[in-house]
Amino acid sequence: MSSVVIDGVARQFDNHRALNDVSITIEQGEFFSLLGPSGCGKTTLLNIIAGFLSPNKGRVLIGGKDVTALPPYQRHIGMVFQNYALFPHLSVADNVAFGLKVRKVTRNEQQRRVTEALKQVRLEGLAQRMPHQLSGGQQQRVAIARALAIEPQVLLLDEPLSNLDARLRKEMQDELRALQQRVGITTVLVTHDQEEALTLSDRIGILGQGELQQTGAPAALYRQPANRFVAEFVGQANLFHVSAQNGRYQARDHFVAAGAALQLSAAQPAGASSLLIVRPERVQFSTEPQQFASNGSVASVKEVSFAGATLRLVCQLPGGGEIRVQPAEAHFSQLPAPGDRCYLHWQAADVIVLPAQESV
Ligand code: ATP
Repeated sequence: MSSVVIDGVARQFDNHRALNDVSITIEQGEFFSLLGPSGCGKTTLLNIIAGFLSPNKGRVLIGGKDVTALPPYQRHIGMVFQNYALFPHLSVADNVAFGLKVRKVTRNEQQRRVTEALKQVRLEGLAQRMPHQLSGGQQQRVAIARALAIEPQVLLLDEPLSNLDARLRKEMQDELRALQQRVGITTVLVTHDQEEALTLSDRIGILGQGELQQTGAPAALYRQPANRFVAEFVGQANLFHVSAQNGRYQARDHFVAAGAALQLSAAQPAGASSLLIVRPERVQFSTEPQQFASNGSVASVKEVSFAGATLRLVCQLPGGGEIRVQPAEAHFSQLPAPGDRCYLHWQAADVIVLPAQESV
């Protein structure tokens, strides 16, 4: 049975439509992320699942039951917020027990569940500490333990890691994923951080301007984005508007001046006018002179940034356009520098073709 069903949900604030006819089915035990830029409606949707907000249209089902009219405390959800929202005057154990006391769970059962929840987040030894005696990461784990202690059907996470510094955030992402798999609980995460969503999720729903743009596994969204919005939001994208001439594609913009045609693999028919995408890490970079009949160009290096395992380069095409390239750092004994002449090339199979209606 599906764990969470969002069925035709719409929500308006005054004259502003925050969500428009959104439908998503989340399976039992799935880690599902709602990803999108600021203001796209992620938090509104999470609050509708939690019951803090009502939809103007549509329904929410949890565990097969229509909960649209139920208040949050009757929905069997655990929620973790960005700011942890721990009670500062209560110990770790009392924070975790809070939801159990409200639900009038017996003292013995409270103790059992608090111990279990603290064990799940690996904080067994800190039950008697006060929140101010914990690090940010530990506080967030207490917030997760508090949400798990009520044994919810669904765990809802609203940007839970965004207050942590970059290194701790990465550590907590790994922990969160491991915890979710251990406990096996259906989890819905709201984030605007694409890397976080890609690392953590079984599937992701991309929201843009209140509309669900695409739902899919991380690799599927990356490899076959449904539209330009998804292509540019999940990973980086070099875009080429093309027109077809006798089965060959000619870029309509800057690439054309380089004189090279674009070639597609047989499996990717494009319309007469289409949008083609090449991911930066699929572009092969060389400073050795080469000639290309298709899918390549001479260029010059414009910007170089060092990103650890890869370099992020912006290269200038002869026609005036730019192309992003992300070669592995290990390829270079000497790093490229702005002004260097370079030769860029990619395989026909690495070209993503967007449906014709998305190309305008
Ligand atoms: P962020 O990542 O910045 O938190 P978000 O994707 O979570 O953004 P929401 O908080 O869901 O976005 O807001 C969606 C839209 O609805 C925004 O344009 C926001 O200004 C508007 N909105 C949200 N809550 C209200 C409200 N209570 N009253 C009026 N407008 C609202």
